[in-house]
Amino acid sequence: MNNKRFMTGSAQVKEEVLQKMAMPLVGQGSENACELQEKIVYKLKRIFNTEESILLSSFSGSGLMEGAVRSCTRKRAAIFSVGNFGNRWYEIAKANNIPVDLYELEWGGAINAEFVDEILSTGKYDLMAITHNETSTGIVNPIEEMESIINKYPEIVWCVDAVSSFGGTKIEVDKLGIDICITSTEKALALPAGMSMCSFSKKAIERAHKITNRGYYLDLLNIYEHAIRNKCQYPFTPAISYMYGLDYQLDNIMKEGLENRYKRHEEMSNVVKNWAEKNFEIFGDKNHLSKTITVIKNTSNINVEELNKKLKERGFAISNGYGKLKEKTFGIGHMGDATVQEVQELLANIEDIIGS
Ligand SMILES: *Cc1c(COP(=O)(O)O)cnc(C)c1O
Repeated sequence: MNNKRFMTGSAQVKEEVLQKMAMPLVGQGSENACELQEKIVYKLKRIFNTEESILLSSFSGSGLMEGAVRSCTRKRAAIFSVGNFGNRWYEIAKANNIPVDLYELEWGGAINAEFVDEILSTGKYDLMAITHNETSTGIVNPIEEMESIINKYPEIVWCVDAVSSFGGTKIEVDKLGIDICITSTEKALALPAGMSMCSFSKKAIERAHKITNRGYYLDLLNIYEHAIRNKCQYPFTPAISYMYGLDYQLDNIMKEGLENRYKRHEEMSNVVKNWAEKNFEIFGDKNHLSKTITVIKNTSNINVEELNKKLKERGFAISNGYGKLKEKTFGIGHMGDATVQEVQELLANIEDIIGS
């Protein structure tokens, strides 16, 4: 178990982090729990680059996506999708009976700002959602270029899914004017799945006040009012064990230094991309490639499932393509606490297996 290298898109978790999660519990709403939450929020604000509120949840990222769309769409939501996780926003809105339109590009492409402008200028929408780092295709949408466009439309509550980039790629929530930026623990933060966190702007708060049917468990305004306004009193029992792990891991991340961490992700990404160019081909628009995952076209027609079985015997794992990209592509996640050396070891093992 110890030397397993999971490079699937979910990151592997250090033993010491898991041990922190087994610490003796403190009561929810107690002073100790409150202090723990405040420490976490303080550090998360530095990674989100925000002064807005931070909400912690005891469910995975999709829950906050549902909470965001449901709590903040009054008129109609515009969803911009370049893959599996972009489409999830749309499915969520549909399932909640929220008026919504999906703008989906061919997988491998990235959304550009002019397109967003064109859609928002119709005046039909008051919420838009976009994936930052699309894990299924290895594409990053250029959200930095969208800032000036989206901020032309003050009615728009801007939601960003940064689940698979946060902690591995810089994201500047306040500078860009993002209202709800969402991340989960199990990707570049290198924690077990089970918690998610988001920024929650004043604009989002104001909007949520005007929505009558925000649901119950995923009502972001309810979470905000309990956790922020009433200081740490979460409306539902929070996962304190996870918070221990998160607090500890955020300390590790701060010790490494954010810029160093982003640089390490870029280095790992370059190693994988150079290798992929040499042996296969990279999937998708070369101008918008992810720094946390590389999706590779299976140009040599290898049996990805078979490869992964053999890799697992050696303690490694990669991911097969998502949905319609299965077997046509495969993905290598280079995120979290993984090192350049570990990435090189993985690539050497792949070469060894497919060469034999
Ligand atoms: C993993 C992932 C999610 C959320 O998945 P959960 O299983 O709910 O944590 C959302 N968006 C992207 C881009 C992801 O990679």
